[in-house]
Amino acid sequence: MIRITLLGATGSIGASALDVVARHPDRFALFAVTAASSVDALLRICARFRPQFAVIADEGRVAALRDGLRAAGLPTIGLGGAAALAEVACAPECSTVIAAIVGAAGLVPTIAAARAGKRVLLANKESIVCAGRLLIDAVRCGGGELLPVDSEHSAIHQCLAGARVAGRDVRRLILTASGGPFRTRTDFAGITPEEACAHPNWVMGRKISVDSATLMNKGLEVIEASWLFGFAASRIEVVVHPQSVIHSMVEFVDGSVVAQLGTPDMRTPIAYALAYPDRIDSGSATLDFSRLGALSFEAPDLARFRCLALAFAALAGGTAQTATLNAANEVAVAAFLDGRLPFIEIPRVIEATLDAVHAGEPASIDAVLAIDALARREAARRLERPTVVAAGVAGR
Ligand code: NDP
Repeated sequence: MIRITLLGATGSIGASALDVVARHPDRFALFAVTAASSVDALLRICARFRPQFAVIADEGRVAALRDGLRAAGLPTIGLGGAAALAEVACAPECSTVIAAIVGAAGLVPTIAAARAGKRVLLANKESIVCAGRLLIDAVRCGGGELLPVDSEHSAIHQCLAGARVAGRDVRRLILTASGGPFRTRTDFAGITPEEACAHPNWVMGRKISVDSATLMNKGLEVIEASWLFGFAASRIEVVVHPQSVIHSMVEFVDGSVVAQLGTPDMRTPIAYALAYPDRIDSGSATLDFSRLGALSFEAPDLARFRCLALAFAALAGGTAQTATLNAANEVAVAAFLDGRLPFIEIPRVIEATLDAVHAGEPASIDAVLAIDALARREAARRLERPTVVAAGVAGR
């Protein structure tokens, strides 16, 4: 029996993971589930899966969690606070950790799981964007493994299977992007959070939905792919593929291109990573080729989608820059979702923050967290557009 800690159980990836786990009760059991503050959703999960631990990151909600567990007569132990997330991620009773917290908040528990030698199923791309080599080293030192949950990276992992020496045999990695809801839109003024979150092919949490609309999601994925598979940015290409049927591709030195296809359903990459190297049923629908129609491809428009260009530049600049990029993006996206920042201003806030933060390469997770905190402060200061002072007016 594989015992799983599911970080971010109440989210979109959490729901898909629970669905796959429920299909294989003979194989998987939940050891711990976590959430930020959604007590009721966590209680429903506990009632269904009866994990040993339930953790709520917001300590102010732990009493409500414990009361709910007691009232329902559940054996689950309720814990609270950020430190408890890391505790259940590295507990000896679990062997697999699904890292599905959104944002840099997932970094510390993900690193804890990696150091403890777990099989880490990484959905929380922000943690590898922030920590880069530190996360890869933590996995190596811990003796565990890191398997991608992102559909693009899962596709590349599958395409690379069988390549003897991946680095030498591969010409380039080709990440596909749906292009998001604004692929053909030329005027980004007045975009609402509802429009930005209405992804044409995937149903996801609100932060990643906005990232998909700006193409920052693809930028974060380029950085993630660079670390996961050990390729420089120059060997990673992004191609827009609106149907989201090909999840990504690998081109080998002999000219062969291997692609992984499937319906857009996150249960597929989750099931792949949970059972690897076996294959198990994920519940996803069969791809019906007779009804697919044409598959199309186009180059991303880096002028309209500046976030993707910023991500490529940050990757070339090193981990201090990718951590800054991520923090500024989180601040800008949260402000957009709160109605405090126009959609069109998101790349400006990120670029201005990257210009303002000059940090050395982080040698520890504490250093990463310090850069993250600094970048968040700088980004918050840049949410207001600076007042333009007309020549000759300053000082009056
Ligand atoms: P959601 O917003 O749907 O869920 C986020 C989860 O993280 C919730 O369980 C939430 O708890 C928890 N959480 C949020 N903030 C904190 C915090 N500060 N401390 C602890 N827990 C926290 O996000 P998604 O499921 O869409 O995405 C999760 C991750 O997976 C992201 O990194 C995303 O980029 C990645 N991903 C998502 C895909 C998708 O299809 N959704 C596809 C590929 C990658 P609560 O409910 O209490 O707020």
